[in-house]
Order: sequence, then structure tokens, then C-alpha cells
Amino acid sequence: MMTFEELGLDARLIQATSELGYVNPTQIQEKAIPVLLSGTKDFIGLAQTGTGKTAAFSLPLLHILQPENRFPQALIVCPTRELCVQIVNEIELFKKHLKGIAVVAVYGGASIGLQIRDLKRGVQIVVATPGRLIDLIERKAIDLEQIKYVVLDEADEMLNMGFKDDIEFILQNTPKRESTWLFSATMPPEIRKVSKKYMNEPFEVTVGKVNSGNKSIDHQYYVTQAQHRYETLKRLIDFNPGIYGIIFTRTKADAQGIAEKLTREGYDIDALHGDLTQAQRDKVMGEFRDKTLQLLIATDVAARGIDVQGITHVINYELPDDIEVYTHRSGRTGRAGNTGICMSIVHARETFKLKSIERLIQSQILKVEIPSGKDVCRKQFYAVMDKILEVDITHGDYDTYLPMLQEKFADVSKEEILQRMAAVEFDRFLKYYENAEDLNTRDNARQPRTRDFGGNRNEGFQDRRGSRDNASRGGSYSNNTASSGYARLFVNLGSKDGFYKASLLQFILDMSDLKKDSLGRVDVKDMNSWVEVEQSLASQMIKAIDGKNYKGRRIRMNDANNR
Ligand code: AMP
Repeated sequence: MMTFEELGLDARLIQATSELGYVNPTQIQEKAIPVLLSGTKDFIGLAQTGTGKTAAFSLPLLHILQPENRFPQALIVCPTRELCVQIVNEIELFKKHLKGIAVVAVYGGASIGLQIRDLKRGVQIVVATPGRLIDLIERKAIDLEQIKYVVLDEADEMLNMGFKDDIEFILQNTPKRESTWLFSATMPPEIRKVSKKYMNEPFEVTVGKVNSGNKSIDHQYYVTQAQHRYETLKRLIDFNPGIYGIIFTRTKADAQGIAEKLTREGYDIDALHGDLTQAQRDKVMGEFRDKTLQLLIATDVAARGIDVQGITHVINYELPDDIEVYTHRSGRTGRAGNTGICMSIVHARETFKLKSIERLIQSQILKVEIPSGKDVCRKQFYAVMDKILEVDITHGDYDTYLPMLQEKFADVSKEEILQRMAAVEFDRFLKYYENAEDLNTRDNARQPRTRDFGGNRNEGFQDRRGSRDNASRGGSYSNNTASSGYARLFVNLGSKDGFYKASLLQFILDMSDLKKDSLGRVDVKDMNSWVEVEQSLASQMIKAIDGKNYKGRRIRMNDANNR
């Protein structure tokens, strides 16, 4: 293990790191700092967040920059305002013993006037989100003429959020840029493209495992006829009672029209599109962020740059014309260690596009049946029952009212009370879906293929599709052997409990404290599921989950091969 002294950093920076309690450099710091100090022009650092990336680029910048020149020399671009603030705070700590270096954060949602004032004071380092930076460039309020160093932090997130054009604009508007340092957790093809275009033989270092795309997203598609798109959308929403999602449309008219129609039908939704004023846009975004709004429907342009945590579903009302836009849309879910689902409603004629998208995202998009009316009712019914069981009755003065309630319901059986309670919440669905038609287009769908997308396990498309279709019909999964190196664990939780693949995965990870990459295939069936976990971690997982309670039921988990 190296020391900070051995990395070649200025003694005042070493003193600051030591005061922060850093004993040794992290892996990415060990690999990046000497390279960046040596004058290497372009650099790619592939590392997850939390690995000490900020110090890996901030310390060399602070070492190199010239305090006597009071104009921006380094520009750090990152996806969110939170990250912007975090980076500035860390830099402030690192430069504690340096004199004359100033750093400023510029990001959206805060007063641009104050930020312009800060910039005018003369700073060497600007940390910015792309949207606000472009705003400042267009107002000629920032001088990028002398920028020598551009750092792109969390580049994959920025691309996911639709900032690709903005990043290119920024790179094109830094004429004296000598070095570009790109940090990213994953290396999707879009980032390769940007690096090829704007970087010159970058020095590349990798720390830990690097995914080629976001593996925490479950990609699904549903085939229907054009005239059933709206109905299909409703069914997908109704089939996922806890959904907190974004629906993407191609046109403003669609976004507005669908939002109005769904609102009339009692859904909690609003639209975000280019015709809104900034105040209207802020209001919609505020409500969505607070979860007062459950669903947001947006065009791609209007949704650019929005960063909301905890999105469970992204629904493509139609596939985008430009397939690269698919990654921006789907990247809104499955963030910050969570899992998510990206659903696409497609016409049979569009299914050919899916192949190119799969290649781009390096992940499979599974065909899933549009739920039947009965499926939706069953799901809603379970949701209502869960709500009744989970509602918090410890607060509020329910005891006072109990005698009155008992008197009122004295002659009504428990069964009838339950039925009546369910009817209150549930009638809308029962009535609506009583004679609901099958919305699936069955003949023209893609033929199952067996394909390995370069993952280290051979997850055939045929197998996984088989598992999904069988799961929804209650059939059996044909491939019951574990992948090599993995144990195949049985668990008595399934889609009847409201789980789908991604949510079961999240549940298991939360319970067991294991990392996502220790898991293999997850097959969810009606009543139970199978989960693959690295052999060496199987007993740890069983210990953490077997015997615990889930909604009043005892969870059983065991090794499927030792049963
Ligand atoms: P980052 O990946 O930059 O977000 O850093 C993650 C966390 O690790 C931050 O709280 C840093 O303060 C901390 N950190 C960075 N480098 C070191 C180090 N060499 N030793 C201990 N902690 C560190």
C-alpha cells in the first residue's frame, strides 16, 4: 500500500488529507494521482462512487493550478447539484493550507445572480452542472477561455440524464483545454464515443468491476396494437400499485393529452413539456419530487436533466426515434444502488428496433405479457389487503371510537366487513376490468433467441423468457440447475406477494446486506422464487433471510439443490 507522500503531492495537501483522517490513498487515488501529476493529458478513471474519486482528481488539480492567476483554470462538470456541493466542500477541505485558490459551485435551482457575483470575484476552479453552465456561457457570465483542465465526473450519469449534447457543447467551448479527465462508474458505448471524439489517447485506469451498462434495470417490452397503447399504459400502471414513475412520449401533444385523460380517470399524474413556463415546470417537478404526484409524463427534451431519486418505473409510451435516447430514459430508474424497471409499449412493427437497443445497452429486453384484467384485479386486491395490514394504528385515538364501531358492526360478520372494505377501494378496478380484453398482439412478436451479451454467465434469452412467461402462467421453470459457481436458493416469496424480479432482488439485498454483484439469476414465480448467489455466500444469505417475517408470514429460504 502506498502513502500520500509517495504519490508526489504538495506537502500542504498531504497535511490536509492527514487532518481529514486519510491514512493511505484509496485504489483510484493510488492509480490516478501520479498519472495526473505527471502531466498526462487525457485520462479515464473507471470507478464506482464512494471509492475516493473526488480526491483523486481534486488533489492533483490543487497541486497543479496557479493561485496567482485569478481566472477559471479548471472546470469540473458533474450531474447533480448535490454532487456539485459535495465536490466543492471536499475541495475546500483539501485546500485548507493553500493560499489564493478559490472554488465556486454553479448549479440550477439556485440564484444565478449570486453565482455570477461569485464568479466575478475571481476563481480558479468552477464546479458545475451542465445545464447551469450552458446558461452562464450563453449569458457570457463565465470565462472559459483559459480553462486548461476539464473533469467530467460521473460521466455515465450525465449521459443517462440527457446531457450528452451539453457536454459536447462544453468541450467545444473550452478552446485552451489541454487535459480532459473523465470519471465514470460504467463504460457504455456512448461514453467511448465521447472520449474518442474529444480525448487524445487517454490513459485509462479501472478500479473494481466495471459494468458496460446499468445492470440494476430490468428491461421489459409489451407488444400491442397502436389503438391499444393507452389502455396498455393504464394496465401497466394499475398492475403496479406502488409505482413512482416517469412516462415518456414523443410529442408534447401526447404528453398533455394523456395526462389530461388519466387525470380525469383518477390517476395522480401531471405533464412536463416545453410549453410550460418555468414556474409551471418548477411546480410540477416540486410535486413529483415530494411524491405528491405519483406519475410524471414528459417529452425527452422537457425531462432533460431532471434528477429524482427512487423512481421505480420508466414507461416508454412509444420507443424513441433515436435509439440512444432509450438509455437516457431508462437511466432515470435504477439509480443510487436501487433497482428499477424500464417498460416499453411497442407495436409489432417496431420490435426490430429492440435488437439495436439491446446491443446499445448491452442488456436483454424481455418480452412480458400485458397483464389481463384478472391479473390487475388480483394485484390490486393484494395491494388493498397489504394497505389494511400495514396502516399505522398506533397513533390517533382509535380506542375512543372502538365501542362505537363495534356497535355499528355488531351484526356484520368479519368476512363481510373485509369484503365491504375491499369494495370501497377496489370497486373501480373490478367494474373496469370485469370484461377487459386481451391487449397482447400475439402473432408478430419476436422469436425467442438464445444470446449471450458478453456477461460472464450464459444467460440464454430463451431461458429467461421461458421463466418469465411460465411465471405469469404458473408453469414450471425448465432450467433448474445453478450457474457455475452459484448456489440456487429457494424462497417462498413470489409474484403473489407483489414481487417482481427487481423488487425481490432489492428486498433480498436489503435483508442480507450482500452486494448486487454477488447475485446471479432471479426467477420469480407465482408462489415462490429462485435466487442464485455466489456459492461462498449462500449460507450467509440463508441465515439472514430464512425464518424472518414478511408481512406476517415466515420466510423460508434454503438451497434448492439440497432440499
Ligand atoms: P468519493 O468517492 O469521492 O465520493 O469519496 C467517498 C468518501 O471517502 C468521502 O467521504 C471521502 O472523504 C472519503 N475518502 C476519500 N479518500 C479517502 C482516503 N484516502 N481515506 C479515507 N477516506 C477517504
